[in-house]
Amino acid sequence: MGQEHTALTVAQEQLKIAAEKLELDPGLHEILKKPKRSIIVSVTIKMDDCTIGVFNGCRVQHWDVKGPFKGGIRYHPNVTIDDVTALAMWMTWKCAIIDLPYGGAKGGICCNPKKMSQGELERLTRRYVSLIVDYLGPHRDIPAPDVYTNEQTMAWIMDTYSQLKGYSVPESVTGKPIEIGGSEGRTCATALGVAFCVKEAAKILKLNMKNAKVAVQGYGNVGYNAASIMHSMGCKVVAVSDSSGGIYCPEGIIPSDVRAHKKKTGSVINYKDCTNITNAELLQTKCDILIPAALQNQITKDNADKIKAKIVAEGANGPTTPEADKTLHEKGTFLIPDILANSGGVTVSYFEWVQNLTREHWTLEEVNKKLENKITKAFSDVDKLSKKEESDMRTAALMLGVGRVAHALKTLGLWP
Ligand code: NAD
Repeated sequence: MGQEHTALTVAQEQLKIAAEKLELDPGLHEILKKPKRSIIVSVTIKMDDCTIGVFNGCRVQHWDVKGPFKGGIRYHPNVTIDDVTALAMWMTWKCAIIDLPYGGAKGGICCNPKKMSQGELERLTRRYVSLIVDYLGPHRDIPAPDVYTNEQTMAWIMDTYSQLKGYSVPESVTGKPIEIGGSEGRTCATALGVAFCVKEAAKILKLNMKNAKVAVQGYGNVGYNAASIMHSMGCKVVAVSDSSGGIYCPEGIIPSDVRAHKKKTGSVINYKDCTNITNAELLQTKCDILIPAALQNQITKDNADKIKAKIVAEGANGPTTPEADKTLHEKGTFLIPDILANSGGVTVSYFEWVQNLTREHWTLEEVNKKLENKITKAFSDVDKLSKKEESDMRTAALMLGVGRVAHALKTLGLWP
């Protein structure tokens, strides 16, 4: 394959690897290569200065053989339909690995949320939902947060959907604020899932978590919470970064203090007693555990051999290219793939949906215990398969996810 990757070429190459290992029927492989449905919309809104803003949006629904579609919505200036398609495909495998009754979807709007007011973001979100509402719903497709969308965005989605239906439908979206039906533990769920996976990997490598050095790329929902949870587990967080750059401190930072600094200044950089570093340098930091928690295509053939971490836990979706996977595997790095490592978010989203459907509210302890059980079981399933197949963890995870979906597709058959 070509040297330059997009998220979609990575996702399709990964599917090919899994299909070959599984000796998948070529027809089934062909079906799974493409999404079942892609909806492209033009989201037009009134801007604060009374001009008209026109934004490209989409919702891609990959396959739903195991239940309704589920997946986040991303607001980013560089988001493309190909990226969203890849992210939808990864959601399908992820839900199958963690054994949730969902199919994979993803949505995106090409915009720069950092340059938009709250009013503009609200109008953008509501207009987008109105354009795709016929394809959404608690038994059709349930959105959730992703890059640059948050609890507030999910509240607007729930309200727009409910207004259009004429009654309140909390189960139409997950990642909502608790007061309107959100689940305890949803905000930290992805990061906590990453931490549970790292704990299991550390057991296998006999790596002591106490004082283990951690570097985290991205300081949003996943990155900040991962840094904070790893710190509370006794690890030393030596480097963190965001879109403006990173900081390095061999003695370790206090994640909440750096977050307060980011809130005040807009970035983690220029934090006291730390050296400013680039995002490229962050990935190569001398550490035991590296958590990419920003965007795709970060660890590539150009820098994979320079990664020093013993464990790479992919909080982000698609941060590693297939060539980089090979290099990391050959040099003995224990990589926990995105479709396993970051599945805590969709797992607690599932718990939120179940609580909404039954009008129950579980405690934080219940949610976190159920999450730990589910993710530890999925980790063990993938680890066992990787040992049996003598493969890396990514190939094993893909084989598990793709295999389960392909089996369901074959059992349901094609209609008509
Ligand atoms: P977020 O918007 O809360 O945070 C994104 C962070 O990445 C920000 O700190 C931003 O500054 C940083 N960033 C952006 N561009 C960067 C760059 N070029 N280099 C370094 N940092 C950069 O988003 P999030 O929800 O934390 O999502 C992060 C990743 O985790 C994404 O890949 C997303 O798909 C994945 N993910 C998120 C969830 C979830 O529950 N939020 C679940 C599963 C996977």
